[in-house]
Parts: sequence; C-alpha cells; structure tokens
Amino acid sequence: MTPLIVGNWKMNGLGASLGEFADLASLLTTGEPPRCIVAICPPATLLSQMADQGALSGILTGGQDCHVAQNGAHTGDISAAMLADAGAQFVIVGHSERRADHGETDDLVRRKAVAALAAGLTPIICVGETEAERDAGQAEAVVGAQLAASVPDEAASHEVVIAYEPVWAIGTGRTPTNEEIGQMHGALRARLVERFGDRGAAIRLLYGGSMKPINAREILMIDNVDGGLVGGASLLAKDFYAIICSV
Ligand code: PGA
Repeated sequence: MTPLIVGNWKMNGLGASLGEFADLASLLTTGEPPRCIVAICPPATLLSQMADQGALSGILTGGQDCHVAQNGAHTGDISAAMLADAGAQFVIVGHSERRADHGETDDLVRRKAVAALAAGLTPIICVGETEAERDAGQAEAVVGAQLAASVPDEAASHEVVIAYEPVWAIGTGRTPTNEEIGQMHGALRARLVERFGDRGAAIRLLYGGSMKPINAREILMIDNVDGGLVGGASLLAKDFYAIICSV
C-alpha cells in the first residue's frame, strides 16, 4: 500500500507559517514526485487556507480533533463536518495529548472516529503506552486494549488509519528500538486481521514519536510500518520534506 506521511503541527502556526507550507509545496512540486501520500494537520485557524494551497501541490490536510456531533451547542469545539467543509480529508482522533489534557477515553475516541467517517473524513486513530506501562511489560496489552476500544466497527467497511505513538517518545527525541516498533506493529496488525479479516491487513499503521530525517528511513522500512505521524519535524519544510523523501 502507498505509505502515508502526516505532519501534526499541534498548537503551532500563525498566518506567517503559511510560508513554510508554501516552501514544502514548492519542494514537492519541483523535486521528484513523492512515493507516499502527504498530509498536514495544521491548527484549525489555518486549515482552509492550507487546504486551498495544498490542492495545487497534492498536499492533503486534516484536523487535529473533532467533536462527536456535527453541529450544535458546543462552544469552542469543531465538528468533522466543519473540517470537511474547510477542505480536510483526515482528522486525528485520540492523540495522547488530548487523552491526557482533556481526559479523552477510548469510547469517546471511537465515537469521534465514527463522526469523522460520517463526515467523509478518514480518522487517524492514535494509540500508545506510557513509559511506566512499557517498563511494567504492559505496552502490548495497553495498546491492544486501546485499539479494541478506540477503533469502531465501521472500520470493516470504511478507511481508517491507526497511529502507534508511544507517549514517552513524543517530543522527547527518544524512540523505541526498531525491534520494539516492529513487534508492536506486528501485534497491532495481527489484532486488526483477527477483527477485520483481509480489510485489517489493508489498514495503514503509522509510527509516531520523534520521527526525524535522521531516523525516518530505517523506521519506515520496518514491517507493518505504513507511514509516519510527525510532530516537531513537520514544522520546518526542509525537515518534513527529508522525511517524505525517506519513503
Ligand atoms: P513528535 O510528535 O514527532 O514531535 O514526537 C509526534 C506526535 O505527537 O504526533
């Protein structure tokens, strides 16, 4: 399957950052055509401008979260329908920062994924263990339970993406060993195939957590790693482009 590289800008980016996006667009249109699908999930304030610019250069866009409802009295929230209307194709749901900062549960994440699908978006559903859970030998059990409860049954008939992001690797410069990544992705793949059959074999499994130009190539070569979810290194066009070229 064609790999997918997604940049997660988190709460970074003002209007001036659209210049960085334009730089990425020009690298992508003047260089060799990328061997992967490229998407950026900017803050919602930049989404429609990026979606318009991205359409010209083949860069897809996504939101970083959505509400379970498509509209209504939910001050400050954004619905999947609004993201789709602004031009997004994807939405990240269940990122560990949202799970930690906003107390999001697996059940809520699953309902957000369903709302995303209903709006015609592809949800990027995040799972990942804390350092304490890994140290306790619980990583696979924790992530497996998150997968079971956060991925909706609708994945049997609709496109979803899963991102494995060990919490302790996010923004820290630390990554699991290639063997640990391979083991987790293999375990996730086995669970997806068990639940969804052939369809489970075709669900993209992204790795996220301190993916950088220096480690992207080897991580992207690991079995069952079908792309990356890139935070810090997606903010600079040249770094993100280097990761895209590692595919
Ligand atoms: P990082 O973030 O690449 O800065 O570690 C990844 C993520 O949180 O999606």
